[in-house]
Amino acid sequence: MDNYDVVVIGGGPGGLSSSLKAYQNNKKVLLIEREDKLGGILKQCIHNGFGLITFKEQLSGPEYVERYIDEIKKSNIKTLLSTFVLDIKKVKNGFLIIFSNSKGISKVLADNIIFATGCRERSAKQVFIQGDRCSGVLTAGLSQYYVNILGEKMGKEVVVLGSGDIGLIMARRLSLEGSHVKAAYEIKDSPSGLNRNIKQCLEDFNIPLYLSMTVTKTFGKDKLEAIEVAKVDKNMQVIEGTREIIPCDCLILSVGLIPENELISKLGVEMSKKTSGPVVDGQMMTSIPHIYASGNCLHVNDLVDYVSEASVIAGDNASKEIKEIEYKNITIDEHLAYCVPQRINIKTSNSKTIMYLRSRCKMDKAELKILDSSNSEIYKKNLMFVNPAETIRLEVNLDNIKDDIHITLNEKE
Ligand SMILES: Cc1cc2nc3c(=O)[nH]c(=O)nc-3n(C[C@H](O)[C@H](O)[C@H](O)COP(=O)(O)OP(=O)(O)OC[C@H]3O[C@@H](n4cnc5c(N)ncnc54)[C@H](O)[C@@H]3O)c2cc1C
Repeated sequence: MDNYDVVVIGGGPGGLSSSLKAYQNNKKVLLIEREDKLGGILKQCIHNGFGLITFKEQLSGPEYVERYIDEIKKSNIKTLLSTFVLDIKKVKNGFLIIFSNSKGISKVLADNIIFATGCRERSAKQVFIQGDRCSGVLTAGLSQYYVNILGEKMGKEVVVLGSGDIGLIMARRLSLEGSHVKAAYEIKDSPSGLNRNIKQCLEDFNIPLYLSMTVTKTFGKDKLEAIEVAKVDKNMQVIEGTREIIPCDCLILSVGLIPENELISKLGVEMSKKTSGPVVDGQMMTSIPHIYASGNCLHVNDLVDYVSEASVIAGDNASKEIKEIEYKNITIDEHLAYCVPQRINIKTSNSKTIMYLRSRCKMDKAELKILDSSNSEIYKKNLMFVNPAETIRLEVNLDNIKDDIHITLNEKE
C-alpha cells in the first residue's frame, strides 16, 4: 500500500495551498479531490475580487486558482481527481484513508492528514420553508454552477432569499443574464453581505432589498409558481397579517454555508459549536495530533486570501513533527462570534500567530484587546467599520503566554 507523509483532502484553494507548502518542505504529498478538476468552489466564481491580498491584483476565481494549479502541475504532488474519500481509520502506523474512484475502492496510508473539504449550502428545508420540492427553488451556489459552468438559464422572474454575498452576486449575475430579479428578502434587520456588494449587485441593478422579511412558503407542484413572504419581529417570528404572495418562477436561497465535516467528526476530532468546524491550535492542528484543517471546513471564509494563508500554515506544520503539546485556551467576549484558532500550544513557537475573528455586530469604531489571565493587556488594535460579514485578521506574538487568554471587542466613541 502507498504511504504518504501528507494526504490533503479537497482540491479547492485551501487544499492546493496546503499541498504546495508540504511539497516545498520535501514531503511526499497526495492530493485527493472528488470532482474531475482542481479549484473547488472558485471554478464557478467568475466575478472578480479574488487575490487582492495575495497577488495585489483583482482576479476572478478561476484565475486565482489557476496560479496554484500551475504550480501543482510542475510539482511531483500525486493528484487523484474524481476520487471521493469515504472513510478514515486511525491505525498503528498512521491513518488509513479509504477512497473510491473509477478503479474501485482503494486505500493509502498517511502520516498526516489535512482536511480542506470546504462547505455546503443550507437548503430550503433547513430554513423551514413550506412547500413541495418543485423545480425553480435552488441554492445560490447551485444556480451559479448552472449559469457559469453549464451555461443554463435560470427563471424569468427571480426572488433571492438572504443577503449574503453569494446571493447578492447571483442577483447581479442573473440580471445580466436577462432574468428580472424582483427583490431580495433578508430575515435580519441589516444586510449580511459586504456593503460594496449591496451597492454593486443590488442598488446598481435597481433590485430592492427588504429587511426583516422572509419567505415562508412556496407554491407549485412541479414548477415554482409563487412564494409567500412575510415580515418578522425582532425574534424572527412571522408577524401575522403581513403575509403577501409574490408570483415568480425561481427562488434563489442564500441562507448560509455549513462546513463539510462528516469525515473529520467521525474520527472523533473535537468540534466547535461556534464555527461548526474543528477546534484547532495556532498551527491549524486539530485535537487529534497529525490531523489538520484549513479553509471553509474550518470556518466559513469571506476572503480566499485567508483560506490560502491558513492552508499554508496547515501544510507547513503537517510537514513538521510536533512533539510536545500544552494548550492554553482563547476565550472571547459576547461581541465576538468566534476566533480561530481556539487555543495555543505553548510548546511551539507562537511568535507570529495568525487569528481570524468575526464580530457579532456592526461597529463604526472598535477597540480589540487580548488580555492575559490577570487582565493585563497583551495586544490592542483599533478597528474601523467592524462588520459580521468581514473577517478580522490579527497577527500577534503569543510566545510569552503562560495561561489562557481572553479577547474583547468594544465599540469606541
Ligand atoms: C459564491 C462565492 C463567492 C465568493 N466570492 C469571493 C470573493 O469575491 N473574494 C474572495 O476572496 N472570496 C470569495 N469567496 C470565498 C472563497 O472563495 C472561499 O472561501 C474559498 O473558495 C474556500 O476554499 P476551500 O478550499 O476551503 O473550499 P472549496 O473551494 O469549497 O474546496 C473544497 C474541495 O473539497 C472537495 N471535497 C469535499 N469533500 C471531499 C471528499 N470527501 N473527498 C474528496 N474531495 C472532497 C470539494 O469537491 C471541493 O473541491 C466566495 C465564495 C463563494 C461560494
